[in-house]
Amino acid sequence: MIELPEAQVISRQMSETLTGKSIAGAVAGQSPHTFAWYYGDPRAYPALLVGKTIEGAESFGGYIQIWAGEARIAFGEGANLRFHPAGEKRPAKHQLLVEFADGSALSATVQMYAWLWAFPAGRLDNPYYLGALQKPSPLSPEFTRAYFDQMMFEPGAEKLSAKALLATNQRIPGLGSGVLQDILYTARIHPKRKAAGFTTREWDALFQAIPTVLHEMARCGGRDTEKDLFGKPGGYPTKMSKNTAGSRCAACDSLIQKEAYLGGSIYYCPGCQPV
Ligand SMILES: [Zn+2]
Repeated sequence: MIELPEAQVISRQMSETLTGKSIAGAVAGQSPHTFAWYYGDPRAYPALLVGKTIEGAESFGGYIQIWAGEARIAFGEGANLRFHPAGEKRPAKHQLLVEFADGSALSATVQMYAWLWAFPAGRLDNPYYLGALQKPSPLSPEFTRAYFDQMMFEPGAEKLSAKALLATNQRIPGLGSGVLQDILYTARIHPKRKAAGFTTREWDALFQAIPTVLHEMARCGGRDTEKDLFGKPGGYPTKMSKNTAGSRCAACDSLIQKEAYLGGSIYYCPGCQPV
């Protein structure tokens, strides 16, 4: 899944690789997928996109957005995005393929579920997309302690677990159930701990861990559990993930645990993150 670090990395790679390319073709929905979500009718994508030139790409929260004249192409959640140089075989199945005049292409395939939007600029009113655009990025100066406290202490929040508080409702754009694991490990908070029981020290640790961990993930080219625009895994070695479950915690030597929780997996160290 694309979360903040991967959105930053892939949008930068797109800016470097795709800028200046002219769109020669677009195929949306070639391989049907129940959880590939488009903007309106995907059959209208070619009319919107063909002939436009890519002007750049940006990211906000967990979204990647490409600029092409008055058109925008935006991706989120489980969109696997790949660049194909001229002459390279395209994937047999895809949910969006954008062909460029120079023979190269961009493909998107859906892992679990994904947004694959192509739309006229300013017309997309999806609440998650708008929320990610409008809320302060956890890596921006606007993400202050006062803002964090206001968000975390809203009515009802005290009943939520650490995972529910941080990774549901998109309270913090781009912070999902993937990057969450290392953030909670760094703050030494168990994913199931209720917010009402956090000590002042734990709130401090959490507030510090969010930008620190996200910045490090982005600096290293994304997490090693995710792939970039060229199909390469990121350089950030995840501490709590499918890659480390069952191995020993570097800090305390306990065995790293994996459990199903809130519609996904949680990974934690029972020594560093007691319940
Ligand atoms: Zn540990």
